Parts: sequence; structure tokens; C-alpha cells
Amino acid sequence: MPRPHVVIIGSGFGGLFSAQALAKADVDITLISKTTAHLFQPLLYQVATGILSSGEIAPATRDILRKQKNARVLLGEVNKINLDSRIVIGEKLSKQIILRYDYLIVAAGAGQSYFGNDHFATFAPGMKTIDDALELRARIFGALEMAELSQDAAERRSLMTFVVVGAGPTGVELAGQIVELCHKTLVESFRNIDTRQCRVLLLDAAPVVLPPFGEKLSAAAKKELERIGVEIKLGGMVTNVDATGLDVKYQDGTTERVDAICKVWAAGVQASPLGKTLAEQSGIEVDRAGRVPVEPDLTLPGHPEVFVVGDMMSLDRLPGVAQVAIQGGRYAAKKIIGELTGAPVTERFSYFDKGSMAVISRFGAVAKINDKVQWSGFMAWLAWLGLHLIYVVGFKNRITTLLHWTITFLGSGRSERVTTEQQLVGRLAVKQLGPAFEPTISGILDPKKIDHKKS
Ligand SMILES: Cc1cc2nc3c(=O)[nH]c(=O)nc-3n(C[C@H](O)[C@H](O)[C@H](O)COP(=O)(O)OP(=O)(O)OC[C@H]3O[C@@H](n4cnc5c(N)ncnc54)[C@H](O)[C@@H]3O)c2cc1C
Repeated sequence: MPRPHVVIIGSGFGGLFSAQALAKADVDITLISKTTAHLFQPLLYQVATGILSSGEIAPATRDILRKQKNARVLLGEVNKINLDSRIVIGEKLSKQIILRYDYLIVAAGAGQSYFGNDHFATFAPGMKTIDDALELRARIFGALEMAELSQDAAERRSLMTFVVVGAGPTGVELAGQIVELCHKTLVESFRNIDTRQCRVLLLDAAPVVLPPFGEKLSAAAKKELERIGVEIKLGGMVTNVDATGLDVKYQDGTTERVDAICKVWAAGVQASPLGKTLAEQSGIEVDRAGRVPVEPDLTLPGHPEVFVVGDMMSLDRLPGVAQVAIQGGRYAAKKIIGELTGAPVTERFSYFDKGSMAVISRFGAVAKINDKVQWSGFMAWLAWLGLHLIYVVGFKNRITTLLHWTITFLGSGRSERVTTEQQLVGRLAVKQLGPAFEPTISGILDPKKIDHKKS
């Protein structure tokens, strides 16, 4: 008799940790993901700012699971799930993948939300993928290169102004790193510009930075950001983003135009559209962020064989953080094993909050372990360093990451500064090609789909 087939969608925290938790189970696992790597999203900003290489935070999933004989890894983007016939359909470069499942774990995560203004993405990429981080790296270093070439003062100013929208952990970490890059690392590297004059603006509609960290740590983070030179503008809604800047409307009704070539969007998340597919078929509705309301055991209502974990699920107002996805993935695996071994798990999913951290500057961070234990400064930074080293996947990656951190934090150097023109303009080029852009396995466009009148 064939063993039960567990299909897992996604190779992020929820997907990978559920696959690993099923290592000893008497099942066959297929993990399908639209990327070949397990991405450690919390360190994306370090790839964008030249500290780490993409390989260090995104090891190949195939490699991580190579010794787990009950698991196979497939590259493919899932675009259909049929709950009645228990089928998942994916595609990669016009190749279709059809998978039948006995159990399904959906961990497809979340993308950036532009709150209904998706056209902002062209001018202010988000920070969710390796593509995003490499594009941003090309935009940051590219803006400084163009400023060095410019003889026009106003143009130079806008090339030397960096705007980060969203003062959550990603925005704060990114703004801190860009300012350190400009005000420390690159000060001797240019001749026509003085990078110490670069402006780094951190904007948010909320009245504080890092709201979930509480009043004390928010204030400490703001003070440290300002000390290193980040300009913080709170209570401001971005109303428009275009190629040369953005418009902001403040709570008191005043408006401001900020001229800046390099903008980053680190505000808002939208769960994978697969959530909507699941919700529609099971007669429920996703929440405003597109997340699926799940049962206390993380299953889809009416479908005890389907689990939704991580950033895609909505339960007990749990935050979209790595530990929720990891613990959710492990719990789903435990439930499946319990059912197959005749020892069903009856207790509901309960999340153990290990706390949150954000790095602000070299040797400066904030850490909230719980309401009583809260650190800011060097102690929090040390805790961040240790914890992130533990979670970086792979021995070699830990060693090279530590080496890169030593270079950056002790010396302020950045060794990962390679950028390519394709990283810079790829998104725009794909957008301009429009629906005709459908690459095939041979790497060319389908000739039938090219509008020759346009070219
Ligand atoms: C920049 C950034 C910084 C962060 N910092 C922190 C932090 O400091 N601490 C913290 O705890 N959390 C942090 N988070 C949040 C944390 O990374 C997420 O909560 C976590 O990754 C969620 O795990 P997941 O498995 O649900 O989704 P993800 O890790 O996003 O994984 C989703 C997976 O699904 C795949 N996928 C998506 N759609 C499809 C599809 N249609 N078909 C096939 N595969 C698909 C993706 O390729 C990916 O492999 C951060 C997130 C970001 C973006």
C-alpha cells in the first residue's frame, strides 16, 4: 500500500520546519515552492546593504533536505488547489505539475501590501524576496554612482536622499544600515560627492517607530536612529510615489513632496493569494490582509487534512513572525503523525512567544523578551547576534556570516557590493513587456505572444 502523501507548499519557515518535523514519519513528502531556496527573510536588509551575500541567507532547500529520504523537493508556483479532489496544481516555465495529496500543509507566506496602490511597487520595491534585496542593493549603490556623475545640485540631492516607508523592524533596520553605509563605510570612496550629506528618511503613518515593542523600546529606538542620523517623520501617509520622489500627507493636514530617487516600501503585508482560493472553497472569508482564519488546530474549517501555517493564517491575532510559522509547521507535522499512529493530538496549537528584536545601529538594538524583560543597546545587540547566528541555516553559512559581520561591525566594511544592470532594471523591463512576458524553458519569449507592432 502506498504511504500517505503529504504535500507542503512553500520552503519558508512554515514549509521547511514542517517537512523536517516529518522526517521520521511513515509518509512521502513533496515540498513544492516557487523558489529553490529557504529564505531567511529577517536578514534580507543585510543583502540589500552589502553586508551579506544572497547565498548566506538563502541556502538551497534541496540541499537542506538531501538526507531526508522521505522528502522530495520540486520547483513550481502553485496556482490551483482543488480541495474536493485533493489536488494541487503548479507550474514552472510552462511545465505543469499535478500533485495528489492525503495531507496538505500550505505555507506560502505573504507579499508586500501597497494598500491598494500596487503601482507604487515600480518606484518603491518591497523587501520580501532575494530579487527585492538585490534590486534594492543596485538602487542604493546605483544612486550614489549617479550622484558622483551628476553636475546638477538638485539632481545630486535627490540621488542622495533615501526614503524608507514603514517604521516596523524591517524599515528601522534598513534605514539604520543605509545611514551607516553612507555616513561611515563610503565616506572616502567618492570624489565628487560627500556621502555624509546623504539624507535617510524613515516615514510612517503611525505616531511611533516599532509600535509592537512598546513605549520604552520605541523611544529608545527612535533616539538611537536619530543619533546615527536617520530623519524620522511620523504620522505621515504616503499619497503618491513616482520615479523622482513621493508625496506625504501629515495628520495635521500639511503635505510634503520629498525628492528621492531611491525609495523602499517596508509597510504592510498581504498574504499569498492561495489563501483566497482556500477560503472560497471552504465557505469562509479571508481577513483584510488576505489571511485564512483557521481552526485552533491550524486546519482549514471543514478540511481536517489541510493545514494553513505561518504568515498565511489568522488565529488569536498571532503576529506574522518566523516563530509562529516554525511552531505552526511543527505542530501540523505532529498532528499528522498523531493521526497516522493512532495517537491523535487533541490539544490546540499554542504559541510560545520567544520575544522580538530589531537592530538599529552598529552595536545597538532593542529586544523585547516579554513585558518585564526588555533591553536596548549593546546587550540587546549581543542577544540579536547570538540568536541570528543560531538560526542561519548551515555550518558554512554561519562561519561566513560571522566573518562578514566581523568585517562590518568591527571595521564598517561591506564586501557584498556587486550589482548588475539586470538587477536594477529587470522589474521595469518585465513590466514594460506586459502580459507578453512569458518565458519558456528555452529562455525565450513565446513568439506568438510578442506584439511586433510595439517593438
Ligand atoms: C524583511 C523581513 C524581515 C523580517 N524580520 C523578522 C524578524 O526579525 N523576526 C521574525 O520573527 N520575523 C521576521 N519576519 C517575518 C518572517 O520572515 C515571516 O513571518 C516568516 O518568514 C513566515 O514564514 P512562512 O513560512 O509563513 O512564509 P515565508 O517564509 O514567506 O515562506 C513562503 C514560501 O512559500 C513560497 N511560495 C509563495 N507562494 C507560492 C506559490 N504560489 N507556490 C509555491 N510556493 C510559493 C515562497 O517561495 C516561500 O518559499 C521578517 C519578514 C521580512 C519580509
